[in-house]
Amino acid sequence: MPVVDRQEWDVVVVGAGGAGLRAAIEARERGARTAVICKSLFGKAHTVMAEGGIAAAMGNVNSGDNWQVHFRDTMRGGKFLNQWRMAELHAQEAPDRVWELETWGALFDRTKDGRISQRNFGGHEYPRLAHVGDRTGLELIRTLQQKIVSLQQEDFKETGDYESRLKVYQECTVTRILKDGERVSGTFCYERESGRFFVLEAPSVVIATGGIGKSFKVTSNSWEYTGDGHALALLAGAPLLNMEFVQFHPTGMVWPPSVKGILVTESVRGDGGVLRNSEGKRFMFDYIPDVFKEKYAQSEEEGDRWYEDPDNNRRPPELLPRDEVARAINAEVKAGRGSPHGGVFLDVSTRMPAEVIKRRLPSMYHQFKELADVDITAEAMEVGPTCHYVMGGIAVESDTAAARGVPGLFASGEVAGGMHGSNRLGGNSLSDLLVFGRRAGLHAARYATGLGERPAVDDGQIDAAAAEALRPFSAEGPEAGTEETGRPPENPYTLHQELQQTMNDLVGIIRREAEMEAALKKLADLRVRARRAGVEGHRQFNPGWHLALDLRNMLLVSECVARAALERTESRGGHTREDHPTMEREWRRINLLCQPTDPTGGLAATDPVRGQIRLVRETTEPIRQDLLALFDKEELVKYLAEEELYE
Ligand code: FAD
Repeated sequence: MPVVDRQEWDVVVVGAGGAGLRAAIEARERGARTAVICKSLFGKAHTVMAEGGIAAAMGNVNSGDNWQVHFRDTMRGGKFLNQWRMAELHAQEAPDRVWELETWGALFDRTKDGRISQRNFGGHEYPRLAHVGDRTGLELIRTLQQKIVSLQQEDFKETGDYESRLKVYQECTVTRILKDGERVSGTFCYERESGRFFVLEAPSVVIATGGIGKSFKVTSNSWEYTGDGHALALLAGAPLLNMEFVQFHPTGMVWPPSVKGILVTESVRGDGGVLRNSEGKRFMFDYIPDVFKEKYAQSEEEGDRWYEDPDNNRRPPELLPRDEVARAINAEVKAGRGSPHGGVFLDVSTRMPAEVIKRRLPSMYHQFKELADVDITAEAMEVGPTCHYVMGGIAVESDTAAARGVPGLFASGEVAGGMHGSNRLGGNSLSDLLVFGRRAGLHAARYATGLGERPAVDDGQIDAAAAEALRPFSAEGPEAGTEETGRPPENPYTLHQELQQTMNDLVGIIRREAEMEAALKKLADLRVRARRAGVEGHRQFNPGWHLALDLRNMLLVSECVARAALERTESRGGHTREDHPTMEREWRRINLLCQPTDPTGGLAATDPVRGQIRLVRETTEPIRQDLLALFDKEELVKYLAEEELYE
């Protein structure tokens, strides 16, 4: 086996998006020597793409807003499956996290009287999203990067080395979490450019790797979203929570084919854009579900008045939570009332003057002009659902972000489960990253610095991780001596395409039992073939090899999604079953945990046909009484199970 370089840290943060950077800053400020490692260039994480804003109940635009209202909206959006303590902490701490960004140099758009401006978004009762045009994620990452650099400059003054306490390893991928018994001991990594292996030894590892969208064909997500962190946690023995909940954002581009799935921000609707079908009808009025009937306008006139006078009118149904809008668009297209390229129309051109559109939605203006040759100040956009976000994720303790069952492992950001229940509200991700990124960094540092004895890294695990990573270069794969021997290697790109098509067609926005069973069969076939995924060439920048390694993660995560989706026989949030179309109150009490069939993480030993995941049902923790008291009893009756109401 190759000699592997080893470096010692207190905390390793895997991922340099908003969650990872916020965790790293906190860990370093708490005195832990911290390494950040990311697949892409530093500053190019997914968070950069976030457009609309950060949800925080600052009450700058409507003083009626406060954390309790934000908590209520978040729970409603998640259809009460949220890990309620996370939703509480998130709503309470988000305003401080936004303020903190300004003290670190961020500059948000302002209200006329100079306060941080806040915009409307689906499911939020008040204007709540702090924003920088439609480029909020860019400002967030820029600010966190700047903070990291300033901490490194402080360290240089003291130690003469910028990277003595905080170092970023960019364009490097983690393929395994290493363990000493039950405890975390570090990460196994490779440099993407050179293919060189190395190990970061640390008692605490924070996973902040984002989502899983690249397992689906139509997605707003970038190449990095291959579910790595989800898989790393599973393989380390930490369960994943409620993986059936995948958010299909209602408005992705549908044309031209090369850009299908790219996001059209919800700010377009928050700022007044409306959805119409091919008959010119604002169809969302036909799709307001009973649970939301009292909160949404029943006529176009009332909906339009709301933009000017929100206190005396109800909001337009274009601003329903994303799952509702995505399903409505799907239904319109299916009923033959779609746009020429299989979406519906999203129009701002008749709703605001051209210069306002260009000022408030500059990225959207350029995106459509450059990618689709559409001038959104003069004509409607064509849009349709796109796989956008995963609500399911690593099961964590609410207060500490500690992953369940593996001491020293923490998770925050999109990769962590629980916070958003069955459906995330727009803007609640950026605030989630900041609130729980900080908490993960804090507790990871405390854990690492409080340990008596550091865990040891086991050479055997390093060798096994290196062998696993090198496997795509050996034509025979692990199956030597079996009937698989001698068969030609599989092309990782072909396997990836088949996986994306399978998940899109069979475990997508509307789900059916027979289709999910077919998906599980196809996944079994892909798993068998993926063991023969082979690549040519060498380890120096070899994208085919990188994809072959990512396939392990996408297959694991896709199996989690498909198994959990088949198990949950109801429709709730981001999980819609055509054969079980209603939300069942009894299911509110049930979390589905995905666990590896082999708890030692040795995938080679598991039977690829039978699958690598088993599901465990767990009863959700009862919601605290004072939080329940924030809702009307009539509303709770729609969500809570009979025994919960009785209690
Ligand atoms: P990311 O920012 O994706 O960072 C993940 C990091 O992990 C990256 O650095 C990546 O390189 C690294 N990584 C992954 N795997 C590995 C590995 N194996 N080894 C090493 N590193 C690894 N949310 C909002 O709240 N408001 C919005 O306005 C908004 N707009 C959005 C617009 C778009 C187009 C999209 C796609 C999403 C939007 N979201 C928005 C969602 C939000 O941006 C994401 O959920 C959030 O940025 C995720 O942040 P994160 O820190 O968890 O992960």
